[in-house]
Amino acid sequence: MKRMIMTLAFVALYVFTTSAQKTIPQVTTFARTTKANRTEIILPQVKGYTCYKGDFHVHTTYSDGKVNPAGRVMEAWLDGLDIVAITDHYEHHSGVKNVIKAITMKDSTVINYRMAKVSHNKIHEEAVAQLEKEGFPMLLVKGGEITRKAETIGHFNMLFLQDIDAAFDADPAEAFRKAKAQGGIVIHNHPAYRRKTCDKTEFHQQVYAEGLVDGVEVVNGTGFYPPIVRRCIDEGLTMFANTDEHYLTERRYGAVDRFRTMTLVLANELTEASIKEAILDRRTIAFAGGALIGEQMWLSEFLNAAVDCRLVKTAEDGRTFRLTNNSSVAMTLRLGHRIYLLEPFKSLLIDLGKNKESGEYLPPIFEVENMWHIDYQHPKIELALDK
Ligand SMILES: [Zn+2]
Ligand SMILES: [Zn+2]
Repeated sequence: MKRMIMTLAFVALYVFTTSAQKTIPQVTTFARTTKANRTEIILPQVKGYTCYKGDFHVHTTYSDGKVNPAGRVMEAWLDGLDIVAITDHYEHHSGVKNVIKAITMKDSTVINYRMAKVSHNKIHEEAVAQLEKEGFPMLLVKGGEITRKAETIGHFNMLFLQDIDAAFDADPAEAFRKAKAQGGIVIHNHPAYRRKTCDKTEFHQQVYAEGLVDGVEVVNGTGFYPPIVRRCIDEGLTMFANTDEHYLTERRYGAVDRFRTMTLVLANELTEASIKEAILDRRTIAFAGGALIGEQMWLSEFLNAAVDCRLVKTAEDGRTFRLTNNSSVAMTLRLGHRIYLLEPFKSLLIDLGKNKESGEYLPPIFEVENMWHIDYQHPKIELALDK
């Protein structure tokens, strides 16, 4: 009997305590998961390559940005990126104490630039720590921005470095040589910044001629430099589109397009070696403001991979095609005076007649208004049938 009372007492205590927990919650969690709610940007496989989404130019609180390295990593993941490079200014560190200001003489390009007392390797390590904590399958590229007088030298990102600090030099050309000796690459940032022209300065001519520059930003933030497309094609350089973000990406891109500015890298896998190989082989497409900018061949391959084109009806006077956009990129297709907006994951039925002179059926060739290639032109692309 005593044992039975004890048992009942335990049961009563158990029921009381659990029901108390159930009926008087102190905290309610709305979400089932606290993991990030990432924007997924669906892009096609292009000629067997995956389109990896990268931003090779962002700043943190260690230079003149308003977001810390951990914040940049989380933001990049939420924005749908696969690759991000934190590229703080070597010479400007307004966000931290003990700044050593870069010294310039009035008449010269650069005299005595010194790196501020911040270890860029440590900035990178902070970002890596956040990446590992979150478990994001993303690639972080080691980089830094050489930041000199805009009118003469300008700004260059050194990427894929082993030791970011060791690549610095007061002489910018020497810094590029050091970066390349580490297996790094060098890209010319926002080439018209504070100059209103993309034309090369004397310094640019020297470093390009020496083969120290691997790529150029055709887009920086929301600014597009059409003449750079020709430069990249003529000189065998890689096209980039980077945000150069100092604040929050949402602040700027929320009003411009669905997505932030990014470089699409057509590579085999998400490893440093594979991404670097793709960049050096110029397999990139700049993606900004809903526009795709690059070499005609890659734009054509991209459109054909993204859009499925099927013949659904053949009549005496013409044919009807069904175009399905299997990507997150809206396509604006022009045919004569008609403009078709092919939204992501939607299809259109398009009637095409016959050529009045030859009497032959018109092929599905469109001028793609959201694509840009050489000399301010939109490419004309033929959609392959029934792929
Ligand atoms: Zn810059
Ligand atoms: Zn920058």
